[in-house]
Amino acid sequence: MKIEFFGACQTVTGSQYVITVGGKKLLLDCGFWQGRRKDMEKINREFPFDPKSIDAMILSHAHIDHSGNIPNLVKQGFAGKIYCTEATKQITQLMLEDSARVQVYDVEYLNKKLSAGAELLEPIYTLEDVAPAMKYFVGLNYHQEFEPLAGVKAYFRDAGHVLGSALTTLELVENGQIIRLGFTGDLGRKFLPILRDPEQIRAVDYLVAESTYGDRLHDTVATSYLDLAKAINETYARGGKVIIPSFALERAQELLYIIHELINQKAIPPLFVYLDSPLTERVSEVFSEYPELLDEETQKTFLERGKDPFIFTTLRFVETPEESKKLNNIKQPCIIISASGMCEFGRIRHHLKNSIADKNNTVVIVGFMAENTLGRKLLDGAKEVNILNETLPVKAKIVVLNSLSAHADQYDLVKFIQNVGKLKKLFLVHGEAQAMTALTEKLIDAQIGEIVVPEKGYSSNL
Ligand SMILES: [Zn+2]
Repeated sequence: MKIEFFGACQTVTGSQYVITVGGKKLLLDCGFWQGRRKDMEKINREFPFDPKSIDAMILSHAHIDHSGNIPNLVKQGFAGKIYCTEATKQITQLMLEDSARVQVYDVEYLNKKLSAGAELLEPIYTLEDVAPAMKYFVGLNYHQEFEPLAGVKAYFRDAGHVLGSALTTLELVENGQIIRLGFTGDLGRKFLPILRDPEQIRAVDYLVAESTYGDRLHDTVATSYLDLAKAINETYARGGKVIIPSFALERAQELLYIIHELINQKAIPPLFVYLDSPLTERVSEVFSEYPELLDEETQKTFLERGKDPFIFTTLRFVETPEESKKLNNIKQPCIIISASGMCEFGRIRHHLKNSIADKNNTVVIVGFMAENTLGRKLLDGAKEVNILNETLPVKAKIVVLNSLSAHADQYDLVKFIQNVGKLKKLFLVHGEAQAMTALTEKLIDAQIGEIVVPEKGYSSNL
């Protein structure tokens, strides 16, 4: 028995791990690597293993850096089952369709700029590749044992990271030897709006754990309500607009939930909220299909009173690009929530272009911003930015809300790993060097056992 690490090794993107047991191969996650375009093309197009050699797959959750390369895996000959929770199955379809559209759009744009005679770029997959991949998905409930391969028993617990996210426990049997292995996928945190708190993996021999925020402690979730209300009220007083770049899965639903609550509590005026992201709207519908997966507070505040947490009277859904453009003409204070989360693609760029040079407006940064993205430049306090080929001064107020992170912080990670119990080995993945080093130091103090930080291609016998 062995495990090989092919993605999210000393970085936070492109999760892919292969377990070999009884001569069969099980893939954990099949993420898209996100970063510089040139590297993205090479890393994502060619797998570091033969897709035909994989017998089955387990998907921890719907985020593209965990699911995004599945259509390519299937295109290249994978024909096994893909196990995940039912909610993950539904959301992943929406995410993959969106990823295909973004790739096609991006390639068309770049091909127009190519010099004559240069080789045309192609998307790694298109919309036509998503449906064939979805045929292999098997949606399951949490706490339901299943057998992805002969000799492998598997079990999902709630990871509390995004809707449908799962902590996986595997029992691997080979030649009479039994090994138990846990995989966190992305680990959530307690008290996030909407989601239930993460459950706990216990008593495994090996654990593959994420470490995104291994070097940081988050502000409490409660501060996000206060900080958001303050940003909205101050902008309202100036007569400006609040622009919020947001990821379509989870962050956008949390924002709708919090704004809905703030309006109900009269903590902010009932101003119009424009949700300019059709993907967010579709994903929110999936949330409504799984009320039993939402936390107790959401049940009490909304569901038991027959209310949808993501719908309120001043919320407007923006569907077409034309409707989106019309938002430029609005003169009254309002809130615009739009994608993409890191401001690199999509409609958010038009809203930022229209708003960034006006000191009455506010841009609220609510999510992780990778290096070199427009969102990161705003976060880092750039004085001017280039948006859609125009250089603009940054005069709008930039407000950063770190309190809404959907990942466990250093304290949560140490606690979670300690509570697993004695480990033969802990593999730390899905983190940048600085986060992993800081977390490793804390874990050595906590005496949890051998800690390994695998490089890409690293293999360990189990
Ligand atoms: Zn995630």
